[in-house]
Amino acid sequence: MTRFFAACICLAIFASCDKSYEPHKLTEFEYTSKVDTNDHPIVAKEDRQYTVQGFTIDNLFDAARMNGFKELGTNQFEIQVNPENSPINMSPWYAFRLVGTESKTIDITLNYANGRHRYWPKTSADRNNWQLVDSSRFSIGADSLSATMTIDISQDTLYIAAQEIINSTDMKHWTQSLNSAKVKHGSPGKTRLGRDILSMDITNGSAVGKDVLVVLSRQHPPEVTGNLAMMHFLEEIVRDNDLSNKFLDKYRVLVYPMMNPDGVDLGHWRHNEGGIDLNRDWAYYRQPEVRQVCEDVIAKVNASEGEVKLGLDFHSTWSDIYYIYDDTVKSVIPGFAREWIGNIFEEIPEDQGIISPFAVNSPVSKNWFYSEFKAEGITYEIGDGTPRDLIKKKGQVGAQEMMKILLEK
Ligand SMILES: [Zn+2]
Repeated sequence: MTRFFAACICLAIFASCDKSYEPHKLTEFEYTSKVDTNDHPIVAKEDRQYTVQGFTIDNLFDAARMNGFKELGTNQFEIQVNPENSPINMSPWYAFRLVGTESKTIDITLNYANGRHRYWPKTSADRNNWQLVDSSRFSIGADSLSATMTIDISQDTLYIAAQEIINSTDMKHWTQSLNSAKVKHGSPGKTRLGRDILSMDITNGSAVGKDVLVVLSRQHPPEVTGNLAMMHFLEEIVRDNDLSNKFLDKYRVLVYPMMNPDGVDLGHWRHNEGGIDLNRDWAYYRQPEVRQVCEDVIAKVNASEGEVKLGLDFHSTWSDIYYIYDDTVKSVIPGFAREWIGNIFEEIPEDQGIISPFAVNSPVSKNWFYSEFKAEGITYEIGDGTPRDLIKKKGQVGAQEMMKILLEK
């Protein structure tokens, strides 16, 4: 037996010498499209509670945004909604909370300053179950500079927000709900304001030599629908069934589900505490969130002598879009994106996603996966108003079809 084990060790050493692993290192990239991602000041959020006409309204919770509040008349009020700085992408996030001393109906006008209305308001008593404000009770003002909703208030707490609220604590609870031997929870580091950047390292058993999938979300705070798709996607990957078990026998999944916890909890429209769009920093690493995640991916991949084959970054925009590489880019899994999306369309004919190919020429995460690893990178965009049951289906089927294709590679 001793001889047998000695022979095995020799074979193992021979095999590892035979295949030399080239470690990756964090590299700055030059793209034709350049972006200044040095810090840009933000206007600090002012925490306030107002008590007027028999109710209170506040922004004293994570992900709240209400920059001012005033009475316009009896049961008529205006809320100011401002961005953290400018120029900024037009995603005016708002979220606030009301508690009445009596039941009544009020009108609230959202005033976006120089912004344009984007998100249809939703209400919730418990932050878990959300309802759209009825279209008969909501109207958008001239040039979309404002929007007015009619709301019933009572002695129960009522949250009103641009999308379902998933703040950094909610995301931490969700990651902890994926409680399985396959999932290791961690953090590559902290943000400027001391929040943990969450990570999960998912595989079956040892990670050594396994190819790697990287999953990102919430670089942009209001992009909750993309975040929902990511959650359904990952729940499918850790499911205890034949496909998922086989996939995690062969692959390792590194997940950073809340890239911008400061921005999310401060109710930002787009940026982090440094006032920067994180998804423009993936060639410079000036922002701590991007730098620490990139260093973490590289350190983990090097330690297990693996290779990143695919990076998926979940976002939201006006409609469903798959941003992929154009034909000039030859990744290590050529043709993956079109095959995968084609399979999703076959399974879900109601998926209205548009395929939008780009060259690798800008400092976004999708391009980092190619520049750093020659991997395939895809930005997976979900529409702001895409039905939530369709998001669930897209997340689940997207995971299944991806696992099937990658298992064949
Ligand atoms: Zn985005």
